[in-house]
Amino acid sequence: MASVVKPIILVTGALGSGKTSGLGALIAHFGYSSPRVLINDVGQVNDEIRFESSAGTYAAETIGGGCACCERSDEFLGRLLALLDDTSSAFDVIIFEASGVADPAAVVRLISEHPKLSHHIEASNHVHYVDATSTEGLLACDVALAETCVIAKSDLVSPGEIDELSAEMRSWNPHMKLLVQDVVDEHVRVLPAPPAAPDPVPAGSSSAPIALAEASRSERADVHVADFSLPTGLSWLALATWATALLARHGDRVLRLKASVPSGQQRVVLNGVRHTLFPPRSLENTEPRSTRGTLTVISTTQDVGLLLDSLQVFVDPAIEATHPVLVPAE
Ligand SMILES: [Zn+2]
Repeated sequence: MASVVKPIILVTGALGSGKTSGLGALIAHFGYSSPRVLINDVGQVNDEIRFESSAGTYAAETIGGGCACCERSDEFLGRLLALLDDTSSAFDVIIFEASGVADPAAVVRLISEHPKLSHHIEASNHVHYVDATSTEGLLACDVALAETCVIAKSDLVSPGEIDELSAEMRSWNPHMKLLVQDVVDEHVRVLPAPPAAPDPVPAGSSSAPIALAEASRSERADVHVADFSLPTGLSWLALATWATALLARHGDRVLRLKASVPSGQQRVVLNGVRHTLFPPRSLENTEPRSTRGTLTVISTTQDVGLLLDSLQVFVDPAIEATHPVLVPAE
């Protein structure tokens, strides 16, 4: 088995949201040239699906007749192991298109808890497809779980509708990358953030604090974004320990957790989905040494005060909530 760690991109979205037809252009957008593609469907599927991309023609393997995150999980893991063992052709990425009913957190958990796969495959991106023409069943938690969202069939609705949809999606997941994809040319482009995007309030900014009682921006959606500012010199290991405990105990309510902690020449990035905290990643620290770290928790709980208390007690008393900014309710 190869010793290099291969990235896997998880692609989710409802049935008919444009996942499979958009795959070629998505792969080209990310700059991969030799992908291995695995498509899961709960129904019966052809054994092999071929599709085109600017980088070439790919054959996709399929798993049919059940969802790969639950009933067909053994087959899913077996296929991944076989892929890694197959030395006949090199590949630079695995694309896994999940069934319309899959739980993305269950997929990443299957990989990250597997004794072999966890060392050879890294869940590097989770792309969620949203059909611009059919947003009735759009769930905030699906958007909040993803690192990248694609608004598909964007040329079939008006620019105003795209603006409205993207603003709503960004309120659920302010730090995601947002792409749009047309039906006609399938070209994927990055949707620039509008000037009034609900970015997290940077530490030390003068924006007015809001009362705890009004802490939620998206009550209707039941997804809440909380940003914290971490003091310089904070131990990433202490934060990782706290995050592991939080996700183990409350992963049913925490959708995503992301932290960036400056540590000397490096910054350590922590990523968690539901009950799973991924192994920390170390990147070069391009920010000034004095920059504070950041932590974002996207959850279905509105009680940011409780999270802050826990962080201050177990990690560092100097941690602050930057969004929502907390003041005691009168
Ligand atoms: Zn499943």
